Amino acid sequence: QDDLFKNVVSHAKEYGFIFPSSEVYDGLSAVYDYAQNGVELKKNIREYWWAAMVQLHDNIVGLDAAILMHPTTWKASGHVDAFNDPLIDNKDSKKRYRADVLIEDYCEKLQQKANKEIEKAKARFGDAFDEQTFITTNARVVEYLEKKKAILQRMAKSLDAGELDDVKALIEELEIADPDTGSKNWTEVRQFNLMFGTKLGASAENAMDLYLRPETAQGIFVNFLNVQKSGRMKIPFGIAQTGKAFRNEIVARQFIFRMREFEQMEMQFFVKPGDEMKWYEYWKETRLNWHLSLGLGREKYRFHDHEKLAHYANAAADIEFEFPFGFKELEGIHSRTDFDLKAHEQYSGRKMQYFDAEENKNYTPYVVETSVGLDRMFLAIFATALTEETLEDGSTRTVLRLPSVLAPTKVAVLPLVKKDGLPELAKSICDDLRWETTVAYDEKDAVGRRYRRQDALGTPFCVTVDHQSLEDQTVTIRHRDSMQQERVKIVDLAGIIHSATSM
Ligand code: ATP
Repeated sequence: QDDLFKNVVSHAKEYGFIFPSSEVYDGLSAVYDYAQNGVELKKNIREYWWAAMVQLHDNIVGLDAAILMHPTTWKASGHVDAFNDPLIDNKDSKKRYRADVLIEDYCEKLQQKANKEIEKAKARFGDAFDEQTFITTNARVVEYLEKKKAILQRMAKSLDAGELDDVKALIEELEIADPDTGSKNWTEVRQFNLMFGTKLGASAENAMDLYLRPETAQGIFVNFLNVQKSGRMKIPFGIAQTGKAFRNEIVARQFIFRMREFEQMEMQFFVKPGDEMKWYEYWKETRLNWHLSLGLGREKYRFHDHEKLAHYANAAADIEFEFPFGFKELEGIHSRTDFDLKAHEQYSGRKMQYFDAEENKNYTPYVVETSVGLDRMFLAIFATALTEETLEDGSTRTVLRLPSVLAPTKVAVLPLVKKDGLPELAKSICDDLRWETTVAYDEKDAVGRRYRRQDALGTPFCVTVDHQSLEDQTVTIRHRDSMQQERVKIVDLAGIIHSATSM
């Protein structure tokens, strides 16, 4: 699995999808740049989301609010006081870790021990093995799992109560060592706010402290009435937004899974109080179906319903995805009650209520939110698509099986040889297709190697121009996944490619 993940990172770099930020200066930790192919894939994911949320819903409209917002926004939202991670330093190595993550990693090791026992028993008992019974009756497995549960409960309780000394005591009691150096010499646990601060204004006395937004949602809340009134929106309705968010993450080690600068795709759905659970269920199902429509496989997704809720929520679930490093949050669906609108009302002194003409009364709407990370979507799709195949002749090929609708380049046009007028015909085909779709032209190397390169880039179609093309205006079209080739008329190309690669 580690190897698989390393492959993902190196493939992303080698084929021009993702580079470390400012790499000439050895990079900036947990910040990345999207390269020529990555930017296309990312744009296509964003558009696929936007089409499903805004274009296909009569009652959802878009917004592009600014990254910088009035600082009181973050007071009202609770981010100034409560957007913290517990942080601990190692005195010897001077390295900094998230205390809860250290404890969770320890629990993960207990889980792995339990899994090992289960695997051993499975191998020993074969078909007769009943996993569920084994997990609940085998003394060692029970011990590992009970211990894990107890540790996590103690940590959650201490964090909730703000008893950071207890969190430290737990780390010491478990004898958790610095993952990098093995040292067990820890400092106190401190709360660390994840927002990035910046300043507005030139002179030191007059400068105003600002934050880079840690989520896009607040831009939607403060604009709620502007959009509702100017768009004559009737409840229930939604506002959708994609854009950058910033968090000064402490643990930043899973490539684009956890970044300091990342992009969110969020939608806030405003409903009548009391209707929120109905819409919460609706959006859970609708969002899962959107993910499934990409065809990565049902077994890659699962729901995780939150027992412990954030201060603003009355129900919350994650859609988790099986990344190369295990099941992790991909999207959050939150029933946020009227917390945010009420808070902005209180801090701004302005009414943020909706007049319901049917009921002839004013109320503060409840909100159901769907929030997915664009970069996490990118990683989910990219890592799942990247496959090594052994072909019939024993050779291997690397193919990026991206959903065709998301592929950066839909078709590559390749002259079989670099002479006899084939490049000219291939280029004129490119020029025609360019109006319909994204095209690449490649004449370098043998055609087999060019196919492999397009496979690795995820291009669903290769069109090859050969000598017969000059005579009868036909070409071969090769399908990335099956490697099947068929002969088609040049005039039919645009239609074939368009119908296979559009939403
Ligand atoms: P996590 O528990 O993984 O830190 P979160 O619960 O803080 O995530 P939310 O605040 O609910 O995440 O944000 C909504 C979505 O934004 C997440 O589901 C995730 O896809 C994305 N996201 C959050 N933080 C990051 C990050 N640092 N890098 C990339 N994507 C992120």
